[in-house]
Amino acid sequence: MNDPSQTQSPLSCADDYDPNSMAVAKAREVISRFLSPVATHECVHIRAALGRVLAQDVTSPLDVPAHDNSAMDGYAVRFADLKTDAKVTLKVAGTSFAGVPFSGAVKAGECVRIMTGGVVPQDTDTIVMQEHAEAKDNEVRIGGGHRQGQHLRRAGEDLKTGQAALKRGQLLRPAEIGLIASLGIPEVMIYRRLRVAFFSTGDELRSVGTMLAEGQIYDSNRYTIHGMLERLGCEVIDMGVVRDDPKLLEQAFGEAAAIADVVITSGGVSVGEADFVKDLLNKMGEVVFWKIAMKPGRPLAYGKIGDAHFFGLPGNPVSVMVTFYQFVRDALLKLSGRDPVEPLPSFKVPCTSSLKKAPGRTEFQRGILTRDAAGTWSVRVTGEQGSGILRSMAEANCFIILPEAQGNVSAGTLVEVQVMEGAV
Ligand code: AMP
Ligand code: MG
Repeated sequence: MNDPSQTQSPLSCADDYDPNSMAVAKAREVISRFLSPVATHECVHIRAALGRVLAQDVTSPLDVPAHDNSAMDGYAVRFADLKTDAKVTLKVAGTSFAGVPFSGAVKAGECVRIMTGGVVPQDTDTIVMQEHAEAKDNEVRIGGGHRQGQHLRRAGEDLKTGQAALKRGQLLRPAEIGLIASLGIPEVMIYRRLRVAFFSTGDELRSVGTMLAEGQIYDSNRYTIHGMLERLGCEVIDMGVVRDDPKLLEQAFGEAAAIADVVITSGGVSVGEADFVKDLLNKMGEVVFWKIAMKPGRPLAYGKIGDAHFFGLPGNPVSVMVTFYQFVRDALLKLSGRDPVEPLPSFKVPCTSSLKKAPGRTEFQRGILTRDAAGTWSVRVTGEQGSGILRSMAEANCFIILPEAQGNVSAGTLVEVQVMEGAV
């Protein structure tokens, strides 16, 4: 696949935009131009492929099911033997159980005792479930009301030989793994895991388990980022905290870009701090700093350091998570080989809180989606929406997405919500 990042810089590519107020959709679109999946594949046993991304199409080497078979326990009959308005008595000529078919011929006036999954004997064309048959000795009595071909699963009805069962780019969940197994295929090609290195920047940051001096805070971003990356199935490289020192930062950026496909940092992209990080990255690669027209998560950097993609996330803990969900998640899925990358599902529900919102930026407020006793869904806001209030993310199960032009929202209005569960 052609990688546009080889030939274009993010700057020349990001043509008509205002870097001081970049629309969310525009930023996503510009980033997406630079993403192509990792080139290395691995061949693994299907047991080891759970949660990984398929790097090949899987075509069916056989008809599934391989034979016409019964969907019910009952009797395989010749439909022509049945009467619509009277009972007939048929002789039971033998049995067809799953894995042990009936091999003889079925003559007129005869039927075969069949169990679910049993191959439908030649000359029979209809299954009568056992609840609709009276068995006595070696005979059964069957009444009217049947349909020719009922309760049959046809050969190839699920998949025909040569038909595509799964497409490259598909996430392998238990259903896909089972489907591959049903075709008798023991191994598949998957994309190798995306390698993501990350570190936090800031002189004020301390690691958990240590004492805080005045003005210091615990580094929480590394834990949220680690968690989100793990959930996306990445190979995670935690590079710790790097102080706001150009030499140390340059060294960290260099090391990270050399070992990873993607480098993610938090902090150091806000006004005041961005300038020196910017100078550094301009020296090392091609990085664009945007002020995204969103709240929270305004400053965001994206670009390349060598061959590695770089995401410079804001420092505020909520901004980190929002920008990760809104930009990084989709990008990492694309780089991991997922195709298509579906946007997170969103839908409209009434909002029971009134919301403060100024036009001009897309807001991602944290919401709690609940269902009342009558089964009707609604959303309420988690409370204070400051970008440092990580508790708002912990309490939330969805984002309330308020579009750029939207002003204040009065209680009872329909708002768009995006469910977080399953996102990362
Ligand atoms: P910055 O973008 O570096 O100016 O950081 C913005 C705010 O986020 C500051 O209040 C920082 O202390 C805070 N912050 C930055 N990095 C982290 C981190 N790793 N964990 C928790 N808070 C952070
Ligand atoms: Mg900082």
